[in-house]
Amino acid sequence: MSQTCPVCHSSRCATKKTVSKYTIWECRDCGLFWVPGVGEAELADFYSSAYFSGSQEFGYGDYLKTEKVQRLNAVNLLGTIANHSRANGGLAKSKLLDVGCAYGFLVDEACKAGAEAEGVDYSESASRYAQTVLGRKVTLGNLHAINFPAEHFDAVTSVGSIEHLNDPVAMVEEIARITKPGGLFVVTTLNTKSLIRIFRFKPPEHLYYFSHRSLALLLESKGFAVESVKAYLANHALGEAVGLLLKALFGPRINIKPLIERMPWKQMNLPLPNNEMLMVARKR
Ligand SMILES: [Zn+2]
Repeated sequence: MSQTCPVCHSSRCATKKTVSKYTIWECRDCGLFWVPGVGEAELADFYSSAYFSGSQEFGYGDYLKTEKVQRLNAVNLLGTIANHSRANGGLAKSKLLDVGCAYGFLVDEACKAGAEAEGVDYSESASRYAQTVLGRKVTLGNLHAINFPAEHFDAVTSVGSIEHLNDPVAMVEEIARITKPGGLFVVTTLNTKSLIRIFRFKPPEHLYYFSHRSLALLLESKGFAVESVKAYLANHALGEAVGLLLKALFGPRINIKPLIERMPWKQMNLPLPNNEMLMVARKR
């Protein structure tokens, strides 16, 4: 079997390694790593509500407990958007979409800042939370299925979600279609070529592993001009950060929940350098 790179279309691709039943491919030209052939049904199955509560071997250890830090990161990211915004009235008057919005904290913070914000997410429990507890407009399911009008949004965000998709190329294409010319697309994801080059292949949770180069190639190929790329300094609750570090070092089998529960300083928030990047691109 051979593969063509979904980003740069090079045929110089080879298998990198196999993790459980998943084969990870590497593009020798743009450096992309990806896992082909994972279907929608398999993903839907994987993202049950257990994913966000720490009871699966993958996922977020009690995501809701990290609300404070999630909101802090959301506000920082909205600041980045405001800095780049050319919309009249800045963020306050803009239409914003958060793709892969999880519990909707970014959507909520954007609305509080005056934006007309909404979200979309695959998780039923997370989107229900955003709708009922936060009272925000969040659609469950696939971005394509919503079929937003063309050139509708001033800004689209994708925070730590593009690596989870089985076809991010199609997603970026759809985002390009629904973003206004001059509008922004803001992406955070793992950078395989960051200064801290420690990352693990963890399919089916992460299916695409970009470098700043391959992500820029993808965005540029779909009609965006990359304006900035930098290390993403996200805040982490200290307990969560230690848990993620332990998982990175010892693998997904380690049960982080009891460890984190025992930490007296688990609620402290710290902006930590990690292996993620923050890319801001503008629709041409
Ligand atoms: Zn490639």
